[in-house]
Amino acid sequence: MLKIMRSIDDARKMLHDSKRKGLSTGLIPTMGALHEGHLSLVKQAQRENDEVVVSIFVNPLQFGKDEDFNRYPRSFDKDCEVLSSMGVDLIFNPTASEMYPPEFSTGITFHHLEKKLCGKFRPGHFGAVAVVVLKLFLIVNPDRAYFGQKDFQQTVIVKRMVADFNLDVEIKVLPTMRNADGLALSSRNVYLNNAEKREALCLYQALTKAQSLVNAGIATAMEITQEMEKIIRAFKTATLDYISIVNPDTLEETQEVYRGSVVALAVKIGKTRLIDNIIIV
Ligand code: AMP
Repeated sequence: MLKIMRSIDDARKMLHDSKRKGLSTGLIPTMGALHEGHLSLVKQAQRENDEVVVSIFVNPLQFGKDEDFNRYPRSFDKDCEVLSSMGVDLIFNPTASEMYPPEFSTGITFHHLEKKLCGKFRPGHFGAVAVVVLKLFLIVNPDRAYFGQKDFQQTVIVKRMVADFNLDVEIKVLPTMRNADGLALSSRNVYLNNAEKREALCLYQALTKAQSLVNAGIATAMEITQEMEKIIRAFKTATLDYISIVNPDTLEETQEVYRGSVVALAVKIGKTRLIDNIIIV
């Protein structure tokens, strides 16, 4: 039976009881407005754990002041229906004041990692993601937590935090779910009108080009990014924030592209900022 909890104490109590009974717990942190990408994480968690907790919390701390916190899509009732039909055990849906009472004052910073890729464009974002993820880990105490490769930099900072703070949780990263046309599923896709949805295909087209250039024996990052930029430029309303080819652990840009390199990009389609990435195979 699905339980929905807003209080940290209630969630803690339920999950402590589960631990006492020897049940394993999988956690999927989300901001709601669930789509098949989120659900793929839920399904994997259900295969690997006795109990599954989905947190739904639009974390105000991780949005910049000109970003879309207020209009971020919210569909709580529908999310609950879907998760209930899947047999999820607990939805943890705290309020902002439950998570961050007025006196809250602790932060997390990452020396290098938070300045790479999206970090350059979203100062403070990854520190704020780390804070909410750490709080969720401490409240839920999961055996495993599930994240999507779609937010590659997020997976790297979460893994870093887990290692640095010796947290006893296994981080699982699952592949990006896409529409048939290649567009990565994202809660923010609802911002796109039909014309913009077509423009948004430039991200995956550019990424696919990167892989095919590597397949053809081209291994220079500069050459590959230039070809990708050409593709983005061919789409009229797309403006590029960045294309970066990086080492998957350090997020440092590399000159050579190899198996395991991450090709990541962020593009604005109209007002909507989209991100995507692939791992070169
Ligand atoms: P969000 O609600 O956007 O914060 O996402 C919650 C989790 O779902 C994060 O770990 C995301 O990386 C993951 N996620 C988002 N989109 C996708 C997708 N298209 N495929 C797989 N996982 C995803």
